[in-house]
Amino acid sequence: MLCSAIAAAAALLTSACDKSNAKTTDSAEPVAVALEKPATESPADATPDADMPKGAQILMKCYPDFVKGYKDGRLQMSDGTTIVYDDGRSKTFEQKLDDADPEDMFAFKYDRTASKPEYLQDAGRSRCEALFKKMYGNTAAQVQSKLVSVKWFDANGNYGGSSVKFTPVNGAADHLKAVAAELAKMPQFKKYYKSEGTFYWRQVRGAKRQSAHSYGMTIDIGGNFKTYWLWSNPGAKETTRIRYENKMPMEIVEAFERHGFIWGGRWYHYDTMHFEYRPEILMDNP
Ligand SMILES: [Zn+2]
Repeated sequence: MLCSAIAAAAALLTSACDKSNAKTTDSAEPVAVALEKPATESPADATPDADMPKGAQILMKCYPDFVKGYKDGRLQMSDGTTIVYDDGRSKTFEQKLDDADPEDMFAFKYDRTASKPEYLQDAGRSRCEALFKKMYGNTAAQVQSKLVSVKWFDANGNYGGSSVKFTPVNGAADHLKAVAAELAKMPQFKKYYKSEGTFYWRQVRGAKRQSAHSYGMTIDIGGNFKTYWLWSNPGAKETTRIRYENKMPMEIVEAFERHGFIWGGRWYHYDTMHFEYRPEILMDNP
């Protein structure tokens, strides 16, 4: 039986996430506070743990179709399965990327005010694969079967001159559509807009983990202005101190961030062509 309190909470969560995506300056905190006080009439099994981690609350708000609750240290998924939120292991920087639980996804700072990222701050590069595969698809074919076309820019920067495949899951395709509409109003940057790729099921180069491009909620753009940490620092290891380089105008970055996308240029291991739909990272770093 569907509990009306849960339905009400879900509606609240959806609006909270929309709000955080709409404006970078708007904090989602007031809604988070409201959620910490569940309706007193809820049955015991619908009441979240009193010590529910902030990250679990954020995941419920940002992915309401999939993350329905938190109980006994586990995310409660819409298909009835659960995911351990924190495996309790202390991890090295690389383990936080290669073997992430949901808690590890919130281990890094995403600083929207700094001119360059701090050492080893890679918010968003850590992805719990069990969670992302459950939402976007467990295999290349599963992800691909859901993709829709989103109107995009051609090589000359003309809006609608081309299209890209993107996942509609979690509203990602609609959010990308909203980004495109904003970019179209900034023709001065059109030489940056051509897509360099969206969906591509693969593992990260030289690593064991799945690339964000596997899930269909990521786009690379940048034309001749792309920079990448390994191109500028050949032979660098994950913990090497490296030189930062960016050519992407911040007006473009901010347009993506207003709609729930994080930018790879805010990673210490920068990838300035890379934009990925990760509203939970933005909500955790207002
Ligand atoms: Zn990318």
